Amino acid sequence: MRIGVPRETAAGETRVAATPETVKKLKAQGHSLHVQAGAGLSASVTDEAYVAAGAEITDAAGAFGCPLVLKVRAPSVAERALIPASTALIGMLNPFDKDGLQGLTDAKLTAFALEAAPRTTRAQSMDVLSSQANLAGYKAVMIGADRYQRIFPMLMTAAGTVKAARVVILGVGVAGLQAIATAKRLGAVIEASDVRPSVKEQVESLGAKFIDVPYETAEEKEAAEGVGGYARPMPPSWLERQKVEVAKRVAQADIVITTALIPGRPAPVLVTEDMVKAMKPGSVIVDMAAPQGGNCPLTEAGRTVVKHGVTLVGETNLPALVAADASALYARNVLDFLKLVLEKDAAALKIDLEDDIVKACLMCRDGQLLRT
Ligand code: NAD
Repeated sequence: MRIGVPRETAAGETRVAATPETVKKLKAQGHSLHVQAGAGLSASVTDEAYVAAGAEITDAAGAFGCPLVLKVRAPSVAERALIPASTALIGMLNPFDKDGLQGLTDAKLTAFALEAAPRTTRAQSMDVLSSQANLAGYKAVMIGADRYQRIFPMLMTAAGTVKAARVVILGVGVAGLQAIATAKRLGAVIEASDVRPSVKEQVESLGAKFIDVPYETAEEKEAAEGVGGYARPMPPSWLERQKVEVAKRVAQADIVITTALIPGRPAPVLVTEDMVKAMKPGSVIVDMAAPQGGNCPLTEAGRTVVKHGVTLVGETNLPALVAADASALYARNVLDFLKLVLEKDAAALKIDLEDDIVKACLMCRDGQLLRT
């Protein structure tokens, strides 16, 4: 099958959907790869490296003109105009973007959004949310450390002692766990909060302290269990008690990393303006929920601002700041997903709707919107 790999055009997007490693493997399966010139440059992959792996270099029309197109981000309106009807598209297409999906449906594409894969053991190797959030959690700590005007580890020197930085992590999914591990490696003292009770053990196993907010009613307990591993909105009674506990920790924190998300909803507000006012001057908040509205109302998406003496980082695409590794992991996720729908030497995809992963990722086909 002819497979196209266009250069991403979304602002700030540096990743690419295939690497020489995955090109080579697809080529060995009897497929031909058509990579747009310069597609990998911002992820440190040259056109020569793609050619050495067996790809042909082409222009945008050549890449989008293939019957299967591998993307990182959903195509823009301009990109969509280059994609013929019936093309199969695989990418992070944002399953919650109704208008975007309608556009792909109207263009009569067969579109797979990899973010919609279930969080099951079988889907782990193609879990783009995890592969990208893991790197984002790392990068958030790196940025926090860079903006912070002190150091992370405790130092005992002849000139006196420097205290270890206090880091508070709010939301301990994949990104939060990596943020804890990264901050720990740098020598910080860490406390973390999440709504899901299963997280406590994971937090403690990484050497951090869990901010315990006990569940007092059956309703709170049930909401905290979430659905499909994801969080659900918590009752206001629990959120109020969480706020009191979080406020105490945030006031003492040097760095706060927030990652709290509820799929398909605006991010919950966990750090209020009053909490920011109570923070020490020079403290840093890295708000990883910035693209979903932020866990702090003072965050400005895409910008770093200083408010009440606190630096707020609202970076909206952290994986793109580690583009080489993010592309390598993403491309492997795509390759693993392809194993479910593309057979050796096949000229077309084989879509098995009995497969729960394929079914969950398929957003539209033959002009029909399938996302429920
Ligand atoms: P996410 O990005 O959707 O959310 C980040 C975290 O924010 C979650 O831990 C969530 O519980 C938390 N959160 C939401 N509201 C909050 C609040 N008010 N206060 C504090 N925290 C709040 O999460 P994710 O990283 O995508 O992980 C989602 C789930 O998927 C987790 O249960 C994770 O363990 C699971 N997972 C499973 C697999 C697998 O089995 N294959 C792979 C990866 C992740």
